[in-house]
Amino acid sequence: MSAQGAELEAALQEAIESVARQGDIVRSLKADAKDGKADKAAVDAAIEALKQLKVVQEQKQKAYEKATGKSGVQSRESFRANVVNALERKLFVIPSFKIYGSVAGFYDYGPPGCAIKSNVTQAWRQHFVLEEGMLEVECPAVTPEIVLKASGHVERFTDFMVTDVKTGDCHRADHLLEAALEAVFEGRTTPPAGEEERRAARDLHARVGELGVAELGAALTRYGVAAPETGNELSTPFPFNLMFKTSIGPKGDLTGYLRPETAQGIFVNFKDLLYYNGNKLPFAAAQIGNSYRNEISPRSGLLRVREFTQAEIEHFCHPEDKRHPKFGSVASLAPLLYSRALQMGEEKRALPMPLGEAVAGGVIANETLAYFIGRTHLFCERIGLDPARVRFRQHLRHEMAHYAEDCWDCEVHCSHGWIECAGLADRSAYDLRAHTAMSKVELSAYETFAEAREVDTLTVLPNKKALGQAFKGEAKAVTAALEALCEEGALAVKAALEAGGPATLEAGGKTYSLPPGSVDIRKERKRLTGRSFTPAVIEPSFGIGRLLYCLFEHSFYWRAGSDKRSVFRFSPLAAPVKATVFPLLARAELNATAARVSAALTRAGLANAVDTTGNTIGKRYARTDELGVPFAVTVDYTSLEDGTATLRERDSTAQVRVPLDELPALLRELTDLRRTWADVAAQYPAQAAPAEEE
Ligand code: AMP
Repeated sequence: MSAQGAELEAALQEAIESVARQGDIVRSLKADAKDGKADKAAVDAAIEALKQLKVVQEQKQKAYEKATGKSGVQSRESFRANVVNALERKLFVIPSFKIYGSVAGFYDYGPPGCAIKSNVTQAWRQHFVLEEGMLEVECPAVTPEIVLKASGHVERFTDFMVTDVKTGDCHRADHLLEAALEAVFEGRTTPPAGEEERRAARDLHARVGELGVAELGAALTRYGVAAPETGNELSTPFPFNLMFKTSIGPKGDLTGYLRPETAQGIFVNFKDLLYYNGNKLPFAAAQIGNSYRNEISPRSGLLRVREFTQAEIEHFCHPEDKRHPKFGSVASLAPLLYSRALQMGEEKRALPMPLGEAVAGGVIANETLAYFIGRTHLFCERIGLDPARVRFRQHLRHEMAHYAEDCWDCEVHCSHGWIECAGLADRSAYDLRAHTAMSKVELSAYETFAEAREVDTLTVLPNKKALGQAFKGEAKAVTAALEALCEEGALAVKAALEAGGPATLEAGGKTYSLPPGSVDIRKERKRLTGRSFTPAVIEPSFGIGRLLYCLFEHSFYWRAGSDKRSVFRFSPLAAPVKATVFPLLARAELNATAARVSAALTRAGLANAVDTTGNTIGKRYARTDELGVPFAVTVDYTSLEDGTATLRERDSTAQVRVPLDELPALLRELTDLRRTWADVAAQYPAQAAPAEEE
């Protein structure tokens, strides 16, 4: 679908949902009016709002029809229900612990789910780790507290929570506020809000992520937000840390957490990885593994879960040189970019822009970040996501951490709206600095200058004897604080001492008065041939489960025809099973040939299944379509005579006749995307589809 078509479809779906929601409001008000709990004016106002929403829906429907030539779209909910139904029916996914009633936020992958996940993960490893020469690591999920204290997760990895004061049910405060604000600016309140109020709600909606706990509480009160479903009063919001806490060892005295991201494992190994890389920058390390977040109320199915697989890259480079040697290979790619300027502008839509132009124009902060945006765009396309429904959204200034230079989310459109499937961030030197400070192990790199430089340096020499006399048991802390002074601080101490007075020094939350003679601070000119520095980090971080779910939605369709059946249009690369082998009839000699074909495909590393059920061909194809198997090989009596078989492609249902001994190599090429079906169809003789399939 074109980008415009995708946008119009999303807008139409939104309009359909607004009408459905308003319809519910009207019905419930009418019921209340019957019981005398609502008055006629409220019902009339709700009906009027419904009429207006229907007009909007009609306009969106017309625009969609005009642009795409299609007659309409299914509502997002019913489309999603169909996809999830197909996924659960064919065991792509299973709600975990189902026989015990399941626990929200956990899903198992069943056989085809495991296979497709492994194919996508392997494609990621090929595309990033192998093609970019990255250093792959695998670190434990159980992480000692000190690591996550250094990274800031113990203190700050929180969401604001509110509880239903009567039932104790927990909700994410920001999500409830967002839903209430959407109802206001979409005109779904009764009576509908005025223009001014709608604008205020829209503005606040854009800032919900920035609100502190007090502001959030005030906003929930102002908009009269109550607990969903029960309508009960809510508690005031409070921060809830999303990490699963545990204890390490039998005595339980070492606190640990299940990691909330895989990245920290890479940072703590930086020194060894740099050494492994011959002390050369830039280099990137990668890790694929599970992360754990105790999400407050995971309601978005597979998109927000409590255990999920991440694939993360930490690209370490010089903070003043973020060029990328391979940038030229992506410079002319034009992914959909939703820059800050476009988000703040009137149209609010992403536009294709060549990455070379985006870097030259300062839209993307540097080449390395843009390089990874380009590679991510190519990866999404390679696994089979619809490129018209993949965009890169730049974080607004307030969304970024103070240390971040620039951040872009790879968002994929699905029935839940635009979903962040990967985050790409220039995190400056924050992470390595934080672990250096906590571990006292210098996580830095060394550069040799092209030419030696004369530089002014400050040398701080604490007078240990004088400090010992003045501060006794605290002398060590004072000495350490003096040695850690920044240039500005050291100059201030120097000035105060030279003026003859004591100098003040802050250390460990206390203020000390340094007597004259307790430290010698000198400015010296030195000849330097190189220096140590903390590398910057550019981090692309992928959620494999989210990519998979979006891939499921982008691949799902109904085959036209009398027996409407669901199909997953998986690319041969991602498909869980690459080919089904059918004997045309249930005869021993055909079964034996089918078994030989299957064994040859397995030897070539191609997942395949033999179907000897003897069902009609139409039924057999329907079963493979539901699993998204891209190719089917049918062995018939001609196969026994001339050693050929029919090869059918799933989406076109076109068939060609191929020699059996060429099948493994041919399917391997198709699966590795080294060859297209069009190319195969041009080489081999076509064969008419059997009547049964129609
Ligand atoms: P973050 O560290 O929050 O930027 O997350 C990095 C990536 O992990 C996101 O882009 C998502 O793809 C994925 N992710 C984060 N939280 C979840 C979750 N609760 N369930 C599934 N995937 C997640």
